[in-house]
Order: sequence, then structure tokens, then C-alpha cells
Amino acid sequence: MNSGVTLWRCTICRAGIFPEPLLCPRCHGDKFHADRVQEAVIEEISVIRHMLGQENWQPRRIASVRTADGQLMTVGLRDESGVGAAIDLFEEGGAPFGRAKTS
Ligand SMILES: [Zn+2]
Repeated sequence: MNSGVTLWRCTICRAGIFPEPLLCPRCHGDKFHADRVQEAVIEEISVIRHMLGQENWQPRRIASVRTADGQLMTVGLRDESGVGAAIDLFEEGGAPFGRAKTS
């Protein structure tokens, strides 16, 4: 498990983007560098109750979260954090997750 989540920052206009895009949606630049974000605030939560073709599926919570610099991203939620909660971000198996801040 890695602390923080990688997002891609445009070298021209500094827009933060996730996942890595081909072109910057703001200035159409094509150069990015990786940046780490450690925390975000939950804006919206949805629950995936069923997945086509999956037996024994456990409901999963997915959150739309906003990082301190305004980037919106979707992460899996690992606890019962609600809308407005500040969460720590981490990566597991290459996918972004969040959970309530431990500090
Ligand atoms: Zn840009």
C-alpha cells in the first residue's frame, strides 16, 4: 500500500488531472509530470450494489473527492466516511482509495 495518490500535472498550465490524459483539457499541452496528493474532501458517495457477472459481490462505496488544489477524482472508500469528511488517499493494486484521516 502506498500513501497518497498520483495525479498528473500539466507542465504548462499546472492543471492537475487524473488519470493521466493524452492532452491537457485546459491548454491542450501534452507534457505532464507526476504529483502526489495525500488528502481530499468527499463531495459525493455512491454505492455499487451489483456488478454484472459477479457472484458474491460485496457492496462497494465509491466517492467523488476534491483535493486541496481543486482536482476532482473518484476513489474507492474503505470505511464509513461521509460527505464533507477529509480523508487520506492511498493506492492499492494501482487503484486509488480513501479512508478517514488517522491523525
Ligand atoms: Zn495545461
